[in-house]
Amino acid sequence: MLIDLTFNPDFTMSNPQVIVLFSGGLDSILAAKVLASQGLSVLGLHATSPFFGNAAEIPTWEKLYDLPIRELDLSEAMVQMLLTSPQHGFGKVLNPCIDCKILLLQQAKLVMQETGAFALASGAVSGQRPMSQRKDALNLISKAAGVQDILVRPLSALQLPITLVEKSGLIQREQLLSLNGRGRSAQMALAEKFGLKVIPTPAGGCHLTEQENARRYFMVMHKLANPQVQDFALANYGRQLWSTDCHWLVVGRNKSDNDKIRSLLSQEDALIDFPGLPAPVALARFGTTWPQELLESAAQQTLSYATKALRYSTKGIARIKDQGQVKQFKVEAKRSDLWDLPSWDTIHGLLVARRKENLQKNTPTL
Ligand code: SF4
Repeated sequence: MLIDLTFNPDFTMSNPQVIVLFSGGLDSILAAKVLASQGLSVLGLHATSPFFGNAAEIPTWEKLYDLPIRELDLSEAMVQMLLTSPQHGFGKVLNPCIDCKILLLQQAKLVMQETGAFALASGAVSGQRPMSQRKDALNLISKAAGVQDILVRPLSALQLPITLVEKSGLIQREQLLSLNGRGRSAQMALAEKFGLKVIPTPAGGCHLTEQENARRYFMVMHKLANPQVQDFALANYGRQLWSTDCHWLVVGRNKSDNDKIRSLLSQEDALIDFPGLPAPVALARFGTTWPQELLESAAQQTLSYATKALRYSTKGIARIKDQGQVKQFKVEAKRSDLWDLPSWDTIHGLLVARRKENLQKNTPTL
């Protein structure tokens, strides 16, 4: 039997009763549906940053799941957290899951207060993830964020201590669930019961858990002076290359990278392209201060990835634009050992050494 989840028309996005942390994954959709099936007015809150989230999907999700959703931009706060060492350390890669969840809940609580909602909810399932979804971690996270009385995990609530909002009857505990562990069959059955037409694939979703991206971010964190949100955003695109003396070059791998790279160009950067050739676009971060030889080496390296153009000639005219000035010069495609990105194994070794050092000093990790 399908449950009628039509929203109460008396409620609007500006006065929801429950704010649900909405990642776009199946568990967060089901958490929202379980609460909506009690007749509660629910607002989804979708967190974004250079590391996770996809604000562009919000209109699609709103239609697909009949749920109002608002973006919560955590970019600045996440970058600050990474740069100042998360208190509870990192997971297997560069993912500070416990601190991240605490931050998310603290920010969601502010939205709750602003909208007049009385509870927060998440799709967390007890025992599902190694670090942040163990029962003890769930309790620690709730307490640290100051939301233990108002945070409900509808999918696992019966496995967890009763919260004040359940005791008060504002949320009916007996209609909540007791899922536990990594199995997905209960979620799939619920999805069917709620009539979900599109089931999101269980993609990782967070770049901080991926080694390829983590090594990109590590370089930004440790080799760039005063890294900003835009730098972490830029680290998501193209080939990431660092010179031995820490100059940063980003070379597009396809049209989408090239467009992103152009959109992230700042006044201090130089843009390298090859007009008339099927060649990548490259961004030299702070390239306005680079010596000419380094810009030329960057242009040679960039041209070396232009496989189509190289079928006809190994030479091209590089155009370098910086602060409104345009320089053009002839270059030969050449790959140099000067440009590289350390492997994850190398970076992981550095991280482990640092963690040990910090443990010995009894300071936070990283
Ligand atoms: S996986 Fe990423 S988004 Fe999820 S809690 Fe961990 S750090 Fe945060």
